[in-house]
Amino acid sequence: MKITIGHLYPDLLNLYGDRGNIQCLMKRCQWRGIEAETIPFELDDKIDFSKLDIVLLGGGSDREQMIVCEKLQEIQPDFKAYVEDNGVVIAICGGYQLLGKYYKTDQGNMKGLDLVDLYTEQGEGRLIENIVLKSDLFDMPIVGFENHGGRTCINNNKPLGKVLYGKGNDGESGYEGVVYKNVIGTYLHGPLLPKNPQLADWLIKHALEKKYEKEIELTPLDDSQEKEANDYIYHRFVRG
Ligand code: GLN
Repeated sequence: MKITIGHLYPDLLNLYGDRGNIQCLMKRCQWRGIEAETIPFELDDKIDFSKLDIVLLGGGSDREQMIVCEKLQEIQPDFKAYVEDNGVVIAICGGYQLLGKYYKTDQGNMKGLDLVDLYTEQGEGRLIENIVLKSDLFDMPIVGFENHGGRTCINNNKPLGKVLYGKGNDGESGYEGVVYKNVIGTYLHGPLLPKNPQLADWLIKHALEKKYEKEIELTPLDDSQEKEANDYIYHRFVRG
């Protein structure tokens, strides 16, 4: 079996090291004997979504998002078809905001990909916090760090999780991220996947199941260190 990961615009959307998330996906495949390849795309590259099994859209500053958003309009129809056909996407922070209809800032209004029915507006001050979520998708909590000026409204979509500690989508709703078909959007940046192997495996499993059209049971890996670290953060911020 083989997984091909498309990394969209790593030169621009790579705030807080999204490449580490790619490394994590690759390693977790390879440790199981699943071949893994990553294709980084630059702004002028043509993207053939039919060749991709997971798409990663990373975080970026408002300035970089503004540069990328024009390009996104060109790839929107193909990207939309990929998502509607259950293509797997992980979109982080700036990338998460760009999944939606628009991201409104003091500097202007950025048109988004409109792949998921959500929108983002810049609010007063930034939401910077450690964050812990309880997601319906996993038993283990999701832990991470957030730093965003935008407040995201996900309308009637399913959130990624309930905020146990931290701010989340808008600092008010008590929810964080979004899950739409096989797309996950989240404000948790930096080492999201190394810290949350359950989330990395969710992406790999869904990508393999879509590609090979059968149910896949991933070989368990020794995640004892990751689980210990996750548990430490959970107890530090939630359980005291
Ligand atoms: N520029 C966006 C914001 O501030 C996203 C930042 C990020 O990707 N960390 O809301």
